[in-house]
Amino acid sequence: MIYDYAIIGAGAAGSLLADALLSDPHFKKRSVLIIDRPGNEYKDRTWCFWSERSHTLAHLVSHQWSEIYAGDSKNPTFQSIAPYTYQMIKGVDFHNYFRPKIKDHSQLDWVVEEVTAVTEMKEVVKIETASETFEAATVFDSRFDYELLQSNKKYPVLQQHFVGWFVKTDKAHFNPDQALFMDFSTPQMGNTRFMYVLPTSDREALVEYTLFSHETLELEAYAKAIDNYLSERNIVGYEVVATERGSIPMSCTPLWERQTKRYIPIGLAAGWAKPSTGFTFDRTLVRVQRIVEGLKRDESLLRVQRKDRFWLYDLLLLDILDRRNEKGAAIFSRLFRKRKPQLILRFLGEKTHFFQELSIMAANKPFPFIAAFVRRLFRGF
Ligand SMILES: Cc1cc2nc3c(=O)[nH]c(=O)nc-3n(C[C@H](O)[C@H](O)[C@H](O)COP(=O)(O)OP(=O)(O)OC[C@H]3O[C@@H](n4cnc5c(N)ncnc54)[C@H](O)[C@@H]3O)c2cc1C
Repeated sequence: MIYDYAIIGAGAAGSLLADALLSDPHFKKRSVLIIDRPGNEYKDRTWCFWSERSHTLAHLVSHQWSEIYAGDSKNPTFQSIAPYTYQMIKGVDFHNYFRPKIKDHSQLDWVVEEVTAVTEMKEVVKIETASETFEAATVFDSRFDYELLQSNKKYPVLQQHFVGWFVKTDKAHFNPDQALFMDFSTPQMGNTRFMYVLPTSDREALVEYTLFSHETLELEAYAKAIDNYLSERNIVGYEVVATERGSIPMSCTPLWERQTKRYIPIGLAAGWAKPSTGFTFDRTLVRVQRIVEGLKRDESLLRVQRKDRFWLYDLLLLDILDRRNEKGAAIFSRLFRKRKPQLILRFLGEKTHFFQELSIMAANKPFPFIAAFVRRLFRGF
């Protein structure tokens, strides 16, 4: 049998794409194959994003915050982000909602195996696992290969790497309406380092030590930083009830350009992570929608992601952090000090117009960005 569509990986991108295809009457006669390797139940992550309106995943949101702070002060002053809220979806809730919903469709086959090879032939794409071979007319692939990024020398590759502890305290220490988005008051040690604190009650919070840098740290270094941070704030005798750990690629390498008519990378594998921040989830929702619309209109999917002006802004910031990794705290702190958080969130969400972007750029000292741009002229875009 030749499937109309095969999706490799049922993570965020694969599940959202499968659900969008299977729920749309336009595709009701199309056969869909999902292949995901065993054991991924998404207990290991939470996804956060900001949104200004009710959306299709609103019922999965476990907590939301109406105020945020980003900066380097030891005494954060939180600001309202209305009409946005910052929202959290737990991976396990996402998994428990989408798996049965997707599997309920009769035109779907779900195979639990590790994909070992994908080969594009003239009319079909061949997908191999250890025990079977499948064929599909179009394949969406969410296997992320870090080496592909590393092998491209034209663009810098950093990582947003972090360890987060879900802590429970015996006294009230947190405000569940306030998200500490980026607390740069933590020692920078030559990198861009910050604490990300998301309280879900006055005694519970996700406390995450995060870096934008080239190399990950030993596990103990993240643990020590979180413990120091909490004890400096007189939060002692806490219990760590769960942990999360991750490394999200930060690169402008256009991974999506590997796309052909039949083979389409998706998710992190297609460079959908925002290069300057690592935010991916919200962008995945948007790009999945673009794929579905493109398929319905029988259009090229090359428009799903492009090198646009936001890509260029991200590139300049990454070029700066690549050469001077310690600069991030000053750049982000200054930006949040000088501009309203709503404007910054709109900019990071790539929904601003050019004059708003000029205002964002004017918030920081121009020299590092101009120098990065000139260097890029020689290196190529
Ligand atoms: C701990 C953590 C927290 C994060 N928090 C946020 C956040 O708050 N906000 C945000 O915007 N982004 C966040 N991200 C980044 C991003 O949203 C997630 O990494 C997201 O899961 C990426 O979606 P994806 O579909 O590209 O990859 P994944 O969700 O990782 O899915 C890839 C799928 O492919 C499968 N797979 C891989 N190789 C094979 C193979 N050979 N054969 C078969 N299947 C295979 C995997 O099993 C997996 O199911 C976070 C990431 C992590 C790790």
